[in-house]
Amino acid sequence: MSSEAPHDFGHKNHMADPSAEGRFGEFGGIYVPETLVPACQELERAFRSAWADTAFRDELKDLLTHYAGRPSPLTECENLSRELGCTILLKREDLNHTGSHKINNVLGQALLARRMGKTRLVAETGAGQHGVATATAAALFGMECVVYMGAVDIARQELNAFRMKLLGSEVRAAESGSKTLKDAVNEAMRHWVAAVETTHYCLGSVMGPHPYPWMVREFHRVIGDEAAEQCASLLGGGTPDVVVACVGGGSNAAGVFSGFADADAALVGVEPAGGAAVGRAVPGIVHGSHSYLMQDEWGQVLEAQSISAGLDYPGIGPEHAHLAATGRARYEPVTDAQVVDAFQLLARTEGIIAALESAHGLAWIVQAREELAGKTVLLNLSGRGDKDVAQMMDVLA
Ligand SMILES: *Cc1c(COP(=O)(O)O)cnc(C)c1O
Repeated sequence: MSSEAPHDFGHKNHMADPSAEGRFGEFGGIYVPETLVPACQELERAFRSAWADTAFRDELKDLLTHYAGRPSPLTECENLSRELGCTILLKREDLNHTGSHKINNVLGQALLARRMGKTRLVAETGAGQHGVATATAAALFGMECVVYMGAVDIARQELNAFRMKLLGSEVRAAESGSKTLKDAVNEAMRHWVAAVETTHYCLGSVMGPHPYPWMVREFHRVIGDEAAEQCASLLGGGTPDVVVACVGGGSNAAGVFSGFADADAALVGVEPAGGAAVGRAVPGIVHGSHSYLMQDEWGQVLEAQSISAGLDYPGIGPEHAHLAATGRARYEPVTDAQVVDAFQLLARTEGIIAALESAHGLAWIVQAREELAGKTVLLNLSGRGDKDVAQMMDVLA
């Protein structure tokens, strides 16, 4: 944050649309093989026209309401607030269909793909949450769907791999590199290049080449828009002092931040200590855009390490790199041990079993409780923890 005016954020369009080249400040852009540039351009044109079309927006809104269950509630946590000494509000993305914020983006992209005349979706997935959401949308829209998942992740997340098959999708193992998320992204992009006439690449976070970081943020903007309205009605027109979200690629954070970027609220993104792309702040190019990522001194991308597979990504979306560079948002690391404590704390005090990803946000709030004393803190609870219960049973055994 700039030292002279730490709480004076109201004068600028902090989360403006990217430049014509797809840049947020110096970050973003389109760094893809030549053969993919026309596909990115076609997608940008299609998204611009769809997003300006009220019929498209109305259809998406209808799906979000009647299929995904929006608006998600805002929950004031009285027990937890008493325990931590600040007012904690949760934006309940865990209550959406398929259990997280991911459905917002996927329904938007599937609707867009259909409008573009595409009949197939291809996606990457790490823990399987984005794969399941994409397979869900493909089933709903009657589209063919191929999901790439690292071979290591398939073994770790058998249930999600099976869910995708139940939903009618094909799961293909990424066998290259470390056989995890970043390899699945590479293979999904390769597939897209080869099948671009019929196929839309449904990317799962605010990363990749333009227009993805922007488009995915816009599809998640509904989180921040709803939360701003819900907070205003709860707080008598006010905004929370601090807005907190976990950051893998950064889509749930971008969604909730977009509702408060020009308000008088601090924005905090929480990364796993073993995947702190901003904390280690090395600019570089990965998966089609210029951003921050974890790399060694020779520029090799490092493996991220985290208790939650959904945050196991070595990079961060370019708009977050920009928000970090300008000081509008800050990014804080928490350890796996802090996350395990926070996961149990929320379950015990509020009866909510959160996704391990979302527990990162709460872990930072617990750590920063002195700084937050008396403040109102909005935490985006990005997902529910059903998928993590078996893992926690082992961790806590
Ligand atoms: C996938 C996932 C994340 C991480 O993705 P972002 O793009 O950083 O939001 C966070 N929380 C949950 C519950 C997820 O499923």
